[in-house]
Formats: sequence, structure tokens, C-alpha cells
Amino acid sequence: MCGGSTDADKTFVLPTASTRMTDCTYCGCPVEAHDPVFVSESPEGTPTGQFCNYGCLAAHIDAADLTTGTACEWSPDQ
Ligand SMILES: [Zn+2]
Repeated sequence: MCGGSTDADKTFVLPTASTRMTDCTYCGCPVEAHDPVFVSESPEGTPTGQFCNYGCLAAHIDAADLTTGTACEWSPDQ
């Protein structure tokens, strides 16, 4: 059973967002040069993060320990 999530910490991956040039949250490259992924706290909201592709998103998640304490019944020590 999942626990710990609240409405306040939901994150949505947006299929597309604004077309202005933006720098990858993880590596700083212009995301439009790749296959950009945008994330937001609401389905239609302003992106709070953008990434070149799912690779940068995944790397950012690892680097920021975003999975720690949020995954169901899992911890990095197991
Ligand atoms: Zn990147």
C-alpha cells in the first residue's frame, strides 16, 4: 500500500510546454535541442522543471534523491 503522498506534492509530466528556449534543470543544455520533458505541480500548470529527455529527468531524480522516502515500501539501503 502506498503511503506518504499528499495532494501537495503531486508532480505531473507534461507532454509539451512553452516553446521558448529553456535550460535543462539537470544539465543546463537548451531542452529544445533534444526531446524535452517538462514537469509541473499541476496538469496545466507552469513547468517547474524541464529536461532534455527522460535520461536527464532520471539523472536529476537520482542526484536529488527524489525517490528517497517516497517510494512504496522501498529504500535505497535494501
Ligand atoms: Zn539535460
